[in-house]
Amino acid sequence: MYDPKSLKAEEFISDEEIQATLEYADANKENVALINEIMEKAKAGKGLTHREASVLLACDIPQKVEEMFELAQQIKKDYYGNRIVLFAPLYLSNYCINGCVYCPYHKKNGHIARKKLTQEEIKKEVIALQDMGHKRLAIELGEDPVNNPIEYVLESIKTIYGINHRNGAIRRVNVNIAATTVENYRKLREAGIGTYILFQETYNKESYEKLHPTGPKHDYAYHTEAMDRAMEGGIDDVGLGVLFGLEMYRYEFAGILMHAEHLEAVHGVGPHTISVPRIKRADDIDPSAFDNGISDDIFAKICALIRISVPYTGMIISTRETKEVRERVLPLGVSQISGGSRTSVGGYDEPEPEEENSAQFDVSDTRTLDQVVNWLMKMDYIPSFCTACYREGRTGDRFMDLCKSMQILNCCHPNALMTLKEYLMDYASDDTRAVGEALIARELENIPNQRAKQTCAKHLEEIEKGQRDFRF
Ligand code: SAM
Repeated sequence: MYDPKSLKAEEFISDEEIQATLEYADANKENVALINEIMEKAKAGKGLTHREASVLLACDIPQKVEEMFELAQQIKKDYYGNRIVLFAPLYLSNYCINGCVYCPYHKKNGHIARKKLTQEEIKKEVIALQDMGHKRLAIELGEDPVNNPIEYVLESIKTIYGINHRNGAIRRVNVNIAATTVENYRKLREAGIGTYILFQETYNKESYEKLHPTGPKHDYAYHTEAMDRAMEGGIDDVGLGVLFGLEMYRYEFAGILMHAEHLEAVHGVGPHTISVPRIKRADDIDPSAFDNGISDDIFAKICALIRISVPYTGMIISTRETKEVRERVLPLGVSQISGGSRTSVGGYDEPEPEEENSAQFDVSDTRTLDQVVNWLMKMDYIPSFCTACYREGRTGDRFMDLCKSMQILNCCHPNALMTLKEYLMDYASDDTRAVGEALIARELENIPNQRAKQTCAKHLEEIEKGQRDFRF
């Protein structure tokens, strides 16, 4: 029985409803009148239901698909402007007791190097990340109550927030750890985390159980209901994701939108972000063993449709994707990307020797953060190191309100310029600094509110003189 308000996984992600949605989408994929009606609703910025969005995903009429891409670009411009927020993953430990068949951290993998960073090692990694210019991290751990208990995660977050090397500071720590209890989510909230991220991997229960044959992650309901527990524990910002390639993409697409609708129905606020990882080659894992891989074309269409279906939800692309794919999907609605990433445990401070491979997957975009920043600016994006929202208490629905009232240009835009200025002063190469200064001068003119513009200009001068950490 499908019920978006239910707290039971199998009711808010009902297999029956997804099957019916896919049938409805197939039956209407050439129904131009309905497609036009759905597009009109999307144009009004009202978002789409999983059924409506699934019709668009099934539709292959070239002109309509082109209109979907155009609309995604327009919505991205209207709600997010041209800012792209930057972050880096920090792998703390790859000890894991689960049996996920697509992940090299799975328990039975006897030849991957198992590592867990000590607090001293975390300090070194964080200093290396600060010296690159990062202000925002996503910490990543395997699930292992003995090696990676919640106390270790909490202590590590405290260590990370406590390091200020030169002008460096990590101002937002997002957390990607396995599903846990309300009590542990409360502790994470008290530790001051940003977003709690947990990928569903697949919404198809049957596949989920096969792909996670052993370990606590085998429990589909416990995993799928994790975001409700996180919200019960006081975490306002949660990040969803599926690992594309494991199951049929149309199933996953309907599932993730149903999950977003469920969070909105129960907690009054949808997901803060949606990630769109695709399965990658990794130690012991061959992506061709999974026959649901998706082409770059379909991937781009999924990104565009997520943007128009949930206009107020940020979208994240990691270094699993190449520079070329990133270039293609950035204008379609991506709001955050990682840069200069390492997926090994340790590796920022000192590159890992080849014989010691502890990496989770192969990175496709191996450029440095400076190269990524430079590349973004040359395409007219503003690389942003902003972390203001959550530090100003603008989480959950308060962030959504900012987005809905289109105040991003008076708030996030100046914050992006000020944090970019800090980056240029402290970490950028000469060329990046020159490109960046010109971009800031141009973009300052795009702040509509005169007072906000003047304040921003004043802070930019103060940053030049050595002050840091201004925010709206
Ligand atoms: N252990 C945590 C959990 O159970 O959710 C999450 C941390 S894990 C380090 C982060 C994510 O990496 C997983 O949720 C999965 O989607 C993704 N991942 C695992 N194996 C991958 C692969 N071979 N290619 C791409 N992404 C992968």
